[in-house]
Amino acid sequence: MNREEAVLRELNLYPLWQQRGQPAPVMAPVEVPVTEKTAAGSDKGREQLVRELDWPKLKSMVSECTACGLRAGCTQTVFGSGDEQADWLFVGEGPGADEDAQGEPFVGQAGKLLDNMLAAIKLKRDKNVYIGNVVKCRPHDNRAPHADEIASCLPYLQRQIELVQPKLIVALGKTAADALLGRDDTIASMRGKLHDYRGIPLVATYHPAHLLRTPLDKAKVWEDLCMAVATMSATEK
Ligand code: URA
Repeated sequence: MNREEAVLRELNLYPLWQQRGQPAPVMAPVEVPVTEKTAAGSDKGREQLVRELDWPKLKSMVSECTACGLRAGCTQTVFGSGDEQADWLFVGEGPGADEDAQGEPFVGQAGKLLDNMLAAIKLKRDKNVYIGNVVKCRPHDNRAPHADEIASCLPYLQRQIELVQPKLIVALGKTAADALLGRDDTIASMRGKLHDYRGIPLVATYHPAHLLRTPLDKAKVWEDLCMAVATMSATEK
């Protein structure tokens, strides 16, 4: 067995498969970074309010949110799910069609791959794992959320992080890594090193949807997950 095959087996992803006749999901990069400029354009009063909410109030506010145009085009908000006191937080970009229909994060093909990634490091969603997204409403046409939509929604994710108090964050894809780190960089340049989100170690890696299109990058994700496990073990000592 060569190294590539061993890694894929470890990720429970071997043999490689690809759905026939399915268009690749569109994951266009965010055009404008979430900078102080875009944050300054958002509603400061609302941000202040969000910072004081407990879980029930936060969920209720998200479910009623119309702060950006996304809510008008989606079926329902997707708040996030899992263990609300988890050590591990995984953050994606935003709901896709399956998540929009079911109201749960990562339940489509990318979600199945995420489940396999979790299993590869002996984790399971809901058990010491919380899964959230940068935006809570599905951008229509599966486009990436725009910078103003990210800026509107980010306070919710920030509050979720404050409430969960994870020991480690795994940012899945550029949108999540950029939003949490205030950058506009490629995952290729952000992965492979440890970042810091307000004192919490953050590992940036490829989004599972990217891996569906580019399976060869699974080996890099495996390396990133191993770094995440090592970091978590170090925090537990
Ligand atoms: N992609 C994401 O980024 N989040 C989901 O919840 C589903 C797919």
